[in-house]
Amino acid sequence: MNFENRVDQTKIKKEIKDKYSEIEHAFRTYATSWGPTVTYGTEGIHSPGSLHYKGFAIDIRTYNLPGGCQGSVVKKIVQELKIKLGYNYDVILETDHIHIEYDPKK
Ligand SMILES: [Zn+2]
Repeated sequence: MNFENRVDQTKIKKEIKDKYSEIEHAFRTYATSWGPTVTYGTEGIHSPGSLHYKGFAIDIRTYNLPGGCQGSVVKKIVQELKIKLGYNYDVILETDHIHIEYDPKK
């Protein structure tokens, strides 16, 4: 995993960190050398009550993927991550990033 300098990795919770290898694997499977870059953890402006502020969400850059932010590669990565991360995680394709959060369902 690569991180923007502004990202404070110490504030990202274990439930997210535990999935770094799965996220890395999905990117390397579909985009070869393009490892994932985290653009925001607890930083930045997100919707009120966002799990970002609690360290349970990260955003990952997509413009550098083959086909761009909405291409077939990013869609395959999102699909793969939804399956691999499972029920308690949400993986959302946003305009220019993939949002991943730990949101346990009861
Ligand atoms: Zn986000």
